[in-house]
Amino acid sequence: MVYFRFDWEDPSGLKPSILLVLHFLPLMGTFLFDKIIFGPVISRRLGVSLGINLLPVDTKVCSFDCIYCECGWTPDKYTKKVVLPSRDEVKQRLEEKLQEMADNNQLPDVITFAGNGEPTMHPEFAGIIDDTLEMRSRYSPSARIAVLSNATMLHKEEVFRALLKVDDNIQKLDSAFEETIRLIDNPRGRFNLGKVVGQLESFKGKVIIQTMFLRGSWKGVDFDNTTDQEIDAWLELVKKIAPSQVMIYTIARDTPADTLRKVSFDDLERIAKRIRGEGIAVQVSE
Ligand code: SF4
Repeated sequence: MVYFRFDWEDPSGLKPSILLVLHFLPLMGTFLFDKIIFGPVISRRLGVSLGINLLPVDTKVCSFDCIYCECGWTPDKYTKKVVLPSRDEVKQRLEEKLQEMADNNQLPDVITFAGNGEPTMHPEFAGIIDDTLEMRSRYSPSARIAVLSNATMLHKEEVFRALLKVDDNIQKLDSAFEETIRLIDNPRGRFNLGKVVGQLESFKGKVIIQTMFLRGSWKGVDFDNTTDQEIDAWLELVKKIAPSQVMIYTIARDTPADTLRKVSFDDLERIAKRIRGEGIAVQVSE
């Protein structure tokens, strides 16, 4: 087993040092995944998805603290040591699960890195992606490999290169305004939207942009990332990034903040129409 320490001041600073645990833990309507490998679940965006959680099984670790996160709030402090699964442990659990699914002739459409926080913060993320590619080839060659990420670790070359190897490199961009991102995504540590957009452009199209649309108020501030001003600016960034696809969606489950409202399917379709108008593929999920 390998242990790690997380340094909140520097999201890139996961260092070998401490932590571990695992089950499905309800938390005020939100929830944590209690296993390294979870599902398969039916994902509204991806199909039959076998999940991989590279974060602890008893708490959340993320470089964002989104007010809509279905895992609940990101802790300010940890009262006990945080344990991430080791590369070997992930490989072994994944192989066991894929073997079981192959035996039952129920292979997944997609193997998805998601779970209790930001998967690219795991210090062995790149090696784990290599192992997963190998397992996929051996047991489930038709399955896609997807990573759901908040784009805060793209400055790490090994993370960037690993993401280029997966089929669905899905990166979050919830607004073109840093002020809106600071309100709804709550970045921990350093965050510079211009740099993130530059990194997303560097994928040269081998990236999918995911955007959560929602309205509400938080800390006394009203917000709505579907206004014309928001969509005009966001669409300009999307065009600059030139992704292979855009995934847009809204709140579907309980959120830690109780002052949020989902947007209607008609609103999502109105945004989707503008994306399609730019010749970019879009997937809408309610
Ligand atoms: S980036 Fe994802 S895991 Fe992290 S707080 Fe936001 S929704 Fe939750």
